[in-house]
Amino acid sequence: MRIAISGAGVAGPTLAYWLTRAGHEATLIEVAPQLRTGGYVIDFWGLGYEVGCRMGLEQTIQDRGYHVRSIRSVTRRGRTRANLSTSGFRRATGGRFSSLPRGDLASAVYSTIDGEVETVFGDSITAITEHEAGVRIDFRHGRTREFELAVGADGLHSTVRRLAFDRAGAAEHYLGCLVAAAVVDGYRPRDDLVYVTYSAPGHSVGRFALRDDRTLLLFVFRCDRPNVPDHHQDRLAVLQREFLGLGWECPAMIDALRGVDDLYFDAVSQVRLDRWWRGRTALVGDAAASISLLGGEGTGLAMTEAYVLAGELRTHSDHRQAFEAYQARLGPFIAAKQAGARRALSTFAPKTALSLVFRDAAMRVMATVPGADRLLTRSLSDDLELPDYPM
Ligand SMILES: Cc1cc2nc3c(=O)[nH]c(=O)nc-3n(C[C@H](O)[C@H](O)[C@H](O)COP(=O)(O)OP(=O)(O)OC[C@H]3O[C@@H](n4cnc5c(N)ncnc54)[C@H](O)[C@@H]3O)c2cc1C
Repeated sequence: MRIAISGAGVAGPTLAYWLTRAGHEATLIEVAPQLRTGGYVIDFWGLGYEVGCRMGLEQTIQDRGYHVRSIRSVTRRGRTRANLSTSGFRRATGGRFSSLPRGDLASAVYSTIDGEVETVFGDSITAITEHEAGVRIDFRHGRTREFELAVGADGLHSTVRRLAFDRAGAAEHYLGCLVAAAVVDGYRPRDDLVYVTYSAPGHSVGRFALRDDRTLLLFVFRCDRPNVPDHHQDRLAVLQREFLGLGWECPAMIDALRGVDDLYFDAVSQVRLDRWWRGRTALVGDAAASISLLGGEGTGLAMTEAYVLAGELRTHSDHRQAFEAYQARLGPFIAAKQAGARRALSTFAPKTALSLVFRDAAMRVMATVPGADRLLTRSLSDDLELPDYPM
């Protein structure tokens, strides 16, 4: 089948890889003029890591990744409140864990299909019209084309989801937080391989030192409404208003953002849909079921969904049966991950001073009490076996 995939992030190219292996012809359509690079750092483990291994990417993931040693929570004056070594994470995952820029993972995945799969950059789907034998797809720039199936892998604010499933945007559930992230040059101080974080009620900031004297800065704060300003200066003004008076390195961090031209700023949301497919169109990755950054596993799950979708299309000759099997296999598993991510909100941005004290106390317990590792292993484990498909 000829299958159009909207979005060349993580899920899209993974799907294109496995569809190609299964004998289909995939076309990727990416709205950006080229592959998005860099960006915030993601933790990567679990089933998605296994999918990456099956794609021959383990060495690249380890080489491009950082072996974070600890997560350090500090006071307003920079004194350590709690320090959690990540050795437990490593033990819990058998070393199959890496932290790397999202763009590095995306480009590693894309390298597996580069030159083999048609990719249309700088375009976007504007209409999907289904008929007996396939789908007719209109583009913002390119000519109308025919495919047998369409897949939305175009992220949290998916255009395909809006066109084919959810015109009103009811599937996107705001979790009450906004997030901003940027990579800046030459920031001081640096603490290699330590994620340093500071929280005040409803607000959290963090920094992580990257190679080549760059630093990732992350801001999360509670906000009643998902108000995401369109323009860089307005985004900066919001961050300034929220963080400038909070102490620690907040003023320096805000200052460092001024020279940045790629400031990520978005609502923290989940996508919840009863069905990930309709007719000849399906969704995958964040477009289908974003768990949000609070789950810390969105990329891995996006790759798992892509792998299973391709596998089910390989196994069933009827696309409806394949789509149904895809959702039946993963739906409950992803719903449980989403519930876990919602519970993590109190850890990411504790609402009150008291909940902050509890959070740091929990970190200290994890760091010192024997056996706390087992809790971690349970929270990191994926309650699902990755199926094997003939592809
Ligand atoms: C700050 C932050 C921290 C995170 N931390 C982690 C973490 O630690 N671990 C983890 O696993 N996950 C993390 N995540 C989540 C993770 O980034 C996502 O779950 C993952 O990127 C989803 O992959 P995807 O391919 O579905 O979507 P994306 O990676 O968002 O890719 C979507 C692609 O579609 C393209 N696109 C958008 N609209 C269109 C259109 N109309 N037409 C064509 N193309 C389009 C985009 O340009 C993009 O290339 C984090 C997210 C954030 C915001």
